[in-house]
Amino acid sequence: MTVHSLNEHIHVSSVMWKTVSEACNLACDYCYYSTCAGRAGKAKQIDKRTLAKFIKEYMEMSHGLVNFVWQGGEPLLAGIDFFETVIYYQKKYSTKYKRAKNSVQTNGILINQRWADFFAEHNFFVGVSLDGPKEINDQRRVTRSGQPSFNLVIRGLNYLRSAGVEFNILTVIHETNVRHGKALMAFYLEEGFSHVQFIPCMDFKAQHLEQPGVFAITAKEYGEFLCEVFDYWYNDGYPTLSIRFFDNLLTAYLNYTPEHCVQQEACPRTIVFEQNGNAYPCDFYMDEHYLLGNITENSFREIASHANMEKFLLEKPSLPAQCQNCEFLTLCHGGCPRNRLSSDNEAGVEYFCESYQQIYRYAEQRMQALANRIKHDKLLALIHAGYPLPLKAGPCTCGSGKAFTSCCESLLSS
Ligand code: SF4
Ligand code: SF4
Repeated sequence: MTVHSLNEHIHVSSVMWKTVSEACNLACDYCYYSTCAGRAGKAKQIDKRTLAKFIKEYMEMSHGLVNFVWQGGEPLLAGIDFFETVIYYQKKYSTKYKRAKNSVQTNGILINQRWADFFAEHNFFVGVSLDGPKEINDQRRVTRSGQPSFNLVIRGLNYLRSAGVEFNILTVIHETNVRHGKALMAFYLEEGFSHVQFIPCMDFKAQHLEQPGVFAITAKEYGEFLCEVFDYWYNDGYPTLSIRFFDNLLTAYLNYTPEHCVQQEACPRTIVFEQNGNAYPCDFYMDEHYLLGNITENSFREIASHANMEKFLLEKPSLPAQCQNCEFLTLCHGGCPRNRLSSDNEAGVEYFCESYQQIYRYAEQRMQALANRIKHDKLLALIHAGYPLPLKAGPCTCGSGKAFTSCCESLLSS
């Protein structure tokens, strides 16, 4: 069932494919998705005809940069020939005004020179999972026979570095590393990583929407972890390492829209495809109640405009009373709606509410100081470039919606 007319423009911000479904060559003990325990077998590729239909319809409906995310399981198990086919169809449907941008999330152990050259040639952004230094990572991220993965991942990262591929590090935060924020930060800096993101370790299968969103760490533990890491990230007001949570928080202080869905006012219109073509609105809503259709039978437009998508998009803004009255609402927007389920399945406050309140309060003064310095520098740059200052009662250059005189004007005298 669609709720938009066939001619109406619908913007889909990105599409993610579970490229090889649950197939994976690692057996991390906390995996929220794969049940294959590292026995990947022969991973099935997405059927070529389905792939061609999907890319054609998605590209035809999009403008500018068209975002493709390839996830798993372990997506590199699909093989380079699969991704070469992807590139072939993306180029076929590119125009002067639209082109594809690919990201892949991998455990990194299959990356060799050939993969690195391929990613560099086609400008892929590569997310690599690594839970910290060897002694931490190897406790949880292991092969099916229990062999450690750290050295294999670092080998893959070295191929990426030497080929000049852009990558970030994804660290799952669990019982083994949540009290080691300082050690994690020292490790990232020593390795020279530029971009890092954290994901709290889930204690439920993402596919089972009836299960409440509970995690391997408590909200208090995650809050303390974020505060500890923040001290190192802040670096006396001159951060050198991008940490997604803090970058997004700073973005909100600067009156821009954060890029991370959890920190946005509403969930973006994205589509997640299972390897069989079934479509859902989010990785955490892969459930029959949110099924948007199947790309082998439905058009991409029908999927993007399905009534279940609209139902999903209404979830995040339906805030519990505690959020509506929260002093941090403009920074937090209630977190992720998937995590709002309490144990009796009643919609409640986000599982990590306490963590968020803790870090927002802890970081407040320093974040404000950092944001003010950036706004001040931006204002000076405008003045030096010859732009006139806004009128006193006119809207401020920082996008706050306030009058210039009651907003950034005071920064000029500081
Ligand atoms: S900090 Fe908690 S109460 Fe405040 S908006 Fe976020 S989840 Fe809601
Ligand atoms: S449900 Fe959560 S993870 Fe999914 S898009 Fe919304 S905020 Fe993001």
